[in-house]
Amino acid sequence: SKTYRLDRYISRNSEFSISDTRLLVAQKRIILDGCLASSVQQRVTEFTHVVLDGQCLNDSKPVYLMLNKPRGVVSATKDLEHSTVLDLIEHPRKNELHIVGRLDLNTTGLVLLTNDGAWSRKISLPETKLEKTYEVSLSKPLSEEYVAAFREGIYFAYEGITTRPASLKILSEHTARLTLVEGKYHQVKRMFGHFRNQVLALHRVSVGSITLEGEGEQLAEGSSRPLTEEELSRLG
Ligand code: URA
Repeated sequence: SKTYRLDRYISRNSEFSISDTRLLVAQKRIILDGCLASSVQQRVTEFTHVVLDGQCLNDSKPVYLMLNKPRGVVSATKDLEHSTVLDLIEHPRKNELHIVGRLDLNTTGLVLLTNDGAWSRKISLPETKLEKTYEVSLSKPLSEEYVAAFREGIYFAYEGITTRPASLKILSEHTARLTLVEGKYHQVKRMFGHFRNQVLALHRVSVGSITLEGEGEQLAEGSSRPLTEEELSRLG
């Protein structure tokens, strides 16, 4: 049967890249047939039992799902305290899935999941500039000043970066629609934090051309479904 180098196998079947795998091995996060992986050059076949961070990886047919995440559910595959997005999914191979672009615990809306590592990395690459749109409720009134500042970019001192041009559409005094082409840690909350304005509710409505409305009716909160061929081809 076909064999792969471990780093290639990991990049095919998880969110991590070939070059990330060295660190995963060093951090003892990969187990092959019950033994800790010792080198990125180890060979893996379809019969090898590969476990990454406690999750079984399988070289198998790609799966692509969307989920409407409720509040209070963690974008992780395991959590000791809260229920996870995987707990909401009924799929025979759900344990192979990883999350493409996490949402915070209290954020709701569109989450994509897959077992196809190349696909999730491509979607997440900054160069892909895929638009993510959020509906935001704020504690303080909004003004046109925000629109200009978000278009210019907000400086994040911790990372020493300026956010890429983002488009803000004010919907009412306390609500807006924000479109980003990246996903820094707590990005939306930190952008409004620049104005000392607290985000009270955050809901992701779309990723690229994929929306929760999709095939007509809105996907119910907590529900998931496979992406259609048409949605997949639109995402590229
Ligand atoms: N920005 C945030 O602050 N939180 C999210 O969950 C997503 C984007």
